[in-house]
Amino acid sequence: MGKFEDLRKQMIEYQMAARGLDDSLVLNAVAAVPREAFVPTDLVEFAYQDSPLPIAASQTISQPYIVALMTAALQLKPGDRVLEVGTGSGYAAAILAELVAEVYTIERHKILADTARERLKSLGYNNVNVLYGDGTLGWPEHAPFDAIIVAAGGPAVPATLKEQLAPGGRLVIPVGTTLQTQKLLRVVRVSVDDYRHEDLGDVRFVPLIGAAGWEDEAAQMPAVKKAAVSLPELMYQGSEHFASIDRVNLDNLLARIGDARLVLMGEASHGTAEFYEMRARIARELIEKKGFNVIAVEADWPDASRINHYIRNIAIDPLLERQPFTRFPSWMWANHSVLDFTHWLKNFNDNSAAPGNPVGFYGLDLYSLGASIETVLSYLESVDPATAEVARIRYGCLTPWMDDPSLYGQMVLTRQYKTCEQSILIMLQDLLKKRLEYSQADGERFFDAEQNAKLVANAERYYRTMYYAENSSWNQRDQHMFDTLEAILEFKGADAKAIVWEHNSHIGDARATQMSARGELNIGQLIRQKYGNAAYLIGFGTDHGTVAAASEWGGAMEVKRVQPSHIDSYERLCHEVETDNFLLPLRQPLQQSVRQRLLAERLERAIGVIYRPESELQSHYFYASLPQQFDEYIWFDETRAVTPLSREPLKGMPETFPFGV
Ligand code: SAM
Repeated sequence: MGKFEDLRKQMIEYQMAARGLDDSLVLNAVAAVPREAFVPTDLVEFAYQDSPLPIAASQTISQPYIVALMTAALQLKPGDRVLEVGTGSGYAAAILAELVAEVYTIERHKILADTARERLKSLGYNNVNVLYGDGTLGWPEHAPFDAIIVAAGGPAVPATLKEQLAPGGRLVIPVGTTLQTQKLLRVVRVSVDDYRHEDLGDVRFVPLIGAAGWEDEAAQMPAVKKAAVSLPELMYQGSEHFASIDRVNLDNLLARIGDARLVLMGEASHGTAEFYEMRARIARELIEKKGFNVIAVEADWPDASRINHYIRNIAIDPLLERQPFTRFPSWMWANHSVLDFTHWLKNFNDNSAAPGNPVGFYGLDLYSLGASIETVLSYLESVDPATAEVARIRYGCLTPWMDDPSLYGQMVLTRQYKTCEQSILIMLQDLLKKRLEYSQADGERFFDAEQNAKLVANAERYYRTMYYAENSSWNQRDQHMFDTLEAILEFKGADAKAIVWEHNSHIGDARATQMSARGELNIGQLIRQKYGNAAYLIGFGTDHGTVAAASEWGGAMEVKRVQPSHIDSYERLCHEVETDNFLLPLRQPLQQSVRQRLLAERLERAIGVIYRPESELQSHYFYASLPQQFDEYIWFDETRAVTPLSREPLKGMPETFPFGV
């Protein structure tokens, strides 16, 4: 079997069947179409990824799962005549052509219509007719249709399309009141005047533009061009400029944050010093002026505990004296910017006017299976050695996989190893049952052990299900981070106020980004859904400079050059603003029209712990609507890589404490 056939099989299994799509006719049709022939040549290696991909005319080839889902919703029969609106690459049309007698497809971009026509012909699809035109008007010469599929999101169901349905015909279309998100609707023509509407769930499509769709942006262009002020100029007027992180005046930002209980601060990479330093600067003011007392970060719980203990002078359990933050990517937290902030926090707590309410530092992530098990065991050893014995046996189920827990997932999936789910859950329940008894002695230590036991349970599930569907482990991880934050807030009491530091992709509302089309949520979305305006979400961005990142997972840290931003990106707009660093309020804009004009989706860059400049567009850019994603955006035109801490074993000079034990 060839490489692409293999990938296609996996796509059908993990992206479609695993999500419950079991229409064998549709899955067979997907299996017959070479998706790699429909994507731009430089993106061929991503053809079977679980996401839409860019094609010409700033359009997309839809996510494979969505194409299959919509096709299944059409309930096709072999003799059917089908109309598609939004040919795009022609991929969905090819799948339809595998299933029915005749396919008619309309595309409003001539370049796409012409390319798709050629491509479909060369692949032997002789039952597809491609028309260049406005699909919201349908194709009356060939109506009525047994099924109509619309591959772009409109403000309403076009009446013309309903009229071109045959009795019993099905129309599947994304409809939404904004350009960003839609509901997928199935409209069935029950009789001549009677239509039944069904809601098939939330989706995200490019806009349906036409007579019965949204207005053409290009048609408005002359008006925009005539506007006296360009968008970067408006952004200049609508932002607060600053020269340096040390000297920036944050009073207005603090006023905008108001009495929010949660402030989420992102980063556009995991290795940029300015993002850490600015977040530390803002955090210091939130702590000093607004009484924030929780810092919760995208790090593992046991590692962050070491900082928590250090800044609060809590003795460290000698059994657990290992180096924290050694897991890849260690530079993400073991760097000089974080170290400086840690010292500041300790100094603040030591001299605080409210010693009973110190600032705590917590980790929200779940990659510390081994360290968390060790912590629970060590805790039980000290409070209840008999239970510790039982715990050792229960956790023993996971012991063979400590070095590479993803192997555990693989072995369970292929049924070569039994699942440890039950023993881990029982262990957690046992611990929770003894909450009263244990926490009487030391509530803080019990809380720490409880969070570690919950982490073990969630991590077990994370690794066990990571091969099912791409979004399920992402969602579990962000759900775990949200639940952990909630537990911290509850533990700290009603007055607790938290600062959250994570990557932009976790803290910017996922509903405003391409992630939601993949069914992905994140902690920013969950927090907004629960706390509304009591949470303030701040995104960060940069154009160029250097960044600390690896070339592949587990690889060594390198200082890499950040490419100047893509021409269609938000970053490029920010770069064109005539100042280097600025704060751009988006929830309460200084210029209302700035928010308005930034709403339409653009590319946004996300550099994680890995940076691949050579394939930047495919690997690091996604579509988003910035003002819907964040309440404020902080820009540094040029940035530099973080400086990692030296991890030499300590020889009496603890200047990197609490990192270098
Ligand atoms: N089905 C496509 C595929 O498999 O590649 C994906 C289509 S893409 C998500 C949506 C397409 O709809 C875009 O190519 C866009 O230009 C097109 N479109 C938007 N409004 C349209 C309209 N009124 N008539 C025809 N095409 C339209």
